[in-house]
Amino acid sequence: METLPCGHIAAAGPRRVCRHLTESDAEAPYVRLFIGRGVEYDLCCPPCGESGPELVVACEGCVARVDEDEWECEGFRGKPEIRERPEPVPGALRRVRLPFAPLDIAPIPAVPHRWLLLDKGAVVRWRSDRNEVVGRVRVKMPARAGKGYFKDRPARPRLHASPSGRYCAVVVDFDRYGAVVDLTSGRRTATLDRGGHYPGTTYFPFAFVSHVSLERFVHATDWNRLDVSDAATGRVLTGRVFPVPEGSRLPEHHLEYFHGALAVSPDGRWLADDGWVWTPVGVPRLWDLRAWWQNPYESEDGPSARRLADRSDWNLAMCWLGDRLVVSGLGGLEDSPLLPGVRIFHPETGEQEGAFAGPEGALFAAGGKLVSAAPGGAEFWDPGTGERLGRIPGFVPIRHHPASGELLQLAGDTAILHEP
Ligand SMILES: [Zn+2]
Ligand SMILES: [Zn+2]
Repeated sequence: METLPCGHIAAAGPRRVCRHLTESDAEAPYVRLFIGRGVEYDLCCPPCGESGPELVVACEGCVARVDEDEWECEGFRGKPEIRERPEPVPGALRRVRLPFAPLDIAPIPAVPHRWLLLDKGAVVRWRSDRNEVVGRVRVKMPARAGKGYFKDRPARPRLHASPSGRYCAVVVDFDRYGAVVDLTSGRRTATLDRGGHYPGTTYFPFAFVSHVSLERFVHATDWNRLDVSDAATGRVLTGRVFPVPEGSRLPEHHLEYFHGALAVSPDGRWLADDGWVWTPVGVPRLWDLRAWWQNPYESEDGPSARRLADRSDWNLAMCWLGDRLVVSGLGGLEDSPLLPGVRIFHPETGEQEGAFAGPEGALFAAGGKLVSAAPGGAEFWDPGTGERLGRIPGFVPIRHHPASGELLQLAGDTAILHEP
């Protein structure tokens, strides 16, 4: 092995660096320079980032020392490469006139072509294959407490359907309250309240999960607390106390984290959470639901909990692609806004396994492909290579039906369906 320009006799690292970053071991600000090959980048000091630096090979240790210090990074410079591999987009679009303009729509995950539509004061069961209403249940809408926190993210009702479709939840995203309803009886089984501490900063943290033959739901009961409850009874299953140790200001297991949108993996094992911490910093996290059934503190500080990234924003898209989590947005604390693209994480290690540039908007895993609902229309991506395969201009889906594969856009009282 030879001596590298960084002065070490070691294996070469995965990125080049400017000389100034090799000159001292002290923490120093740096920027990431896209090199025009996918999302690969080199590292240099901020002045070199302005002038086109001379880059040298550095050892693995030197590259890691610089690149892993997210707090010294001043962000990306240049543009990543978006790769294309055009091929025909399979499937067709179908426009369907609904009986009213829904406030929201949710697929019933286990039943193909079955959806729930949210009307003012009612939830309607609808079959997309026959365009037929098959039931209507009166539902009292949850109270509104605020207007949301961000101008571009107003408080708005959101509908969730349980895996079997027996239960639904109506929550108010970017607001405080919600309710779970048994659609067989119309009975409200739980009233949801996530407290008054900045609820307008995130989607209402809510997700249904299957557990053996029962249905449960995960919901925020405070800004920094999630609980699991039984959908049939509303009974909380994760009761826990947070004792304050003597001499401490904060309770044990205290989690300094505002919970956000939740996403359950298709096998029901993992739960991802798109929340934030003070400064503010967007911090996607995840943990193992099976571990949570054993350890009630798993969501706070359990051994399976992983903090995936520290970055400038949250309330971005997330989706599970099999047993990998896809998180929208490239960049760190100083990349604001984050760049269009996705990062793919392994839930067990919390390590990033891949990343590519391009996808923006809502994300869906559909037929082994990643679909992004960009403002100009849906784009289809090969998640293995990061190549864009095709697009459907003007079609901007908001939901994907996991059982029948339909992508759906709402436009007033019209549903536009893409069927595979
Ligand atoms: Zn430099
Ligand atoms: Zn070195």
